[in-house]
Amino acid sequence: MSFELAGIGASPGIAIGPALVLEPATLDIPEYRIEAAAVETESARLRAALATARDELLLVRDAIPGDAPQETRLFIDAHLLMLDDSALRERPLRAIREEGRNAAWAIHHERERLLEIFDRMEDAYLRAKREDIIQVTGRVLRHLLGGKPPLARAGEGHIIVAEDLSPADTVLMKRDRVLACVTDFGGSTSHTAILARSLGLPAVVGTHLGTRLLRNGDTVIVDGDQGILLVDPDAAMLREYQALQKRRQRRRRLLEELRDLPATTVDGTRVLLRANIELPDDRDFVHRVNAEGVGLYRSEFLFMNRPEAPDEEEQFNAFAQVVSAMGGAPVTIRSLDIGADKSLRSEGMEENTAVNPALGLRGLRLCLRRPEWFRPHLRAILRASALGPVCLMLPMLTSMGELRQAKALVRALQDELCAAGLPFDPQMPLGIMVEVPAVAMAAAHFAREADFFSIGTNDLIQYALAVDRGDDDVNDLFDPLHAGVLAMIHNTIAAGHTAGIPVAMCGEMAGNPAYTELLLGLGLREFSMYPGAIPEVKEIIRRTRIDHAEALAQALLAGDWRDLEARRE
Ligand code: PEP
Ligand code: MG
Repeated sequence: MSFELAGIGASPGIAIGPALVLEPATLDIPEYRIEAAAVETESARLRAALATARDELLLVRDAIPGDAPQETRLFIDAHLLMLDDSALRERPLRAIREEGRNAAWAIHHERERLLEIFDRMEDAYLRAKREDIIQVTGRVLRHLLGGKPPLARAGEGHIIVAEDLSPADTVLMKRDRVLACVTDFGGSTSHTAILARSLGLPAVVGTHLGTRLLRNGDTVIVDGDQGILLVDPDAAMLREYQALQKRRQRRRRLLEELRDLPATTVDGTRVLLRANIELPDDRDFVHRVNAEGVGLYRSEFLFMNRPEAPDEEEQFNAFAQVVSAMGGAPVTIRSLDIGADKSLRSEGMEENTAVNPALGLRGLRLCLRRPEWFRPHLRAILRASALGPVCLMLPMLTSMGELRQAKALVRALQDELCAAGLPFDPQMPLGIMVEVPAVAMAAAHFAREADFFSIGTNDLIQYALAVDRGDDDVNDLFDPLHAGVLAMIHNTIAAGHTAGIPVAMCGEMAGNPAYTELLLGLGLREFSMYPGAIPEVKEIIRRTRIDHAEALAQALLAGDWRDLEARRE
């Protein structure tokens, strides 16, 4: 039976294919013995995890849409029954009490025992129930271990359905030719959504129920524009979406004709369109759309999905590949921005356990505390600057002190390279991301010491509006047009221009065609975005008149929305 599931359209496009539902089956299960004195606490932890899993399932059951098939409800009921089953409570509790086992190991052990029993069953229906055991125990384990499910298997030609995907998981999809991804959680500017867009992978996030309602092999239509999923579509729906896919392809081909035309407004104002990239291989996307260099190279992705951090040489090679491939167009390398939702599992680069990681040691703050990471990283960037124009950009900068500290370190490393006879560009510009509201408000102050600004609207909006960019529950409040946000963007651009330094924008707002005219009106002349967005933004720029754009920007800054509303009608 067909049904529809709504979420947030996080990456545009239509995909049709079989679902691959990722279960949290491969969490690392720690095994250790506990002291007799800790038995009560450990037992209580297990009971609490079971109770939380149960509450969660009850919520899911209440939220099942009216038109979902009856089996969906039965499926959740079966999981609830399993959670109440004494095997899943009594044996693990006994293992904690009598053998001094840790709770996660005890649940894991019980799962293995039950799976063995089910595997031996003759009845195919009962044997199929092993999936349910994996899902239920996985849910309890996740509460015990506090982790997100890692991407266990990736499926070529599949639509990945997961509770959540870390940015590191999403990188793997580049390799695995996944058709689309769907997650229960996540906002439209989370790093996972950003990556999906840069991969050209349609994505719907925040469905809440995707992993509960979909089964492996279900045919799914993912509509990343509207943020909906159609499960088990009938023939008419399939035809409609196949026709839509064809129309989109035709439009893409039309836009490709703009590839070699300049991004110039009707009245002749030249605009720079640059690309945001995550890995060296992305340089091919940059050429495909003819971007004028790289406006944001998110260097932290080099550090993901590996047991050890890359050394200076490996980093240098990665940067050198991109710089050389750009044929003289500038490459803005952002120094490591790890922390918050971009955690690493590399040895020696431990997980962030801050109370609030988005406000904790992240980006530049973390790097300044860890010179053993920062020094080889900066040396690799400096060395790459000998091969072509490179700009160094500092993320999450908050204070002038941090900027001065980073500059002093760069100067010291330049002296080191000089002494070692290694080449670098002594004029390499050193700029900052404007993504902390206080920096946007005091932009004139920072413009005196930074060589350029790049506005990171993803974090700027998150911090200005107190809205977590990765939380689907507040995604509707993430508003780039909020008067406070516009005032900060305007102030940053004006301050940069007054000081005579370049001002770019590399947050997702720059790649959303809905904001192109407004940003031009606010004075922005340098946009950096995921490569796939460039053709559409270029098309709008080529239709824009700067005086009209300025009138729109002035009206919005003054709180007058009539012009914008009229355009939307
Ligand atoms: C931003 O915050 O807008 C930005 C471009 O950086 P990131 O999305 O990597 O945090
Ligand atoms: Mg940011």
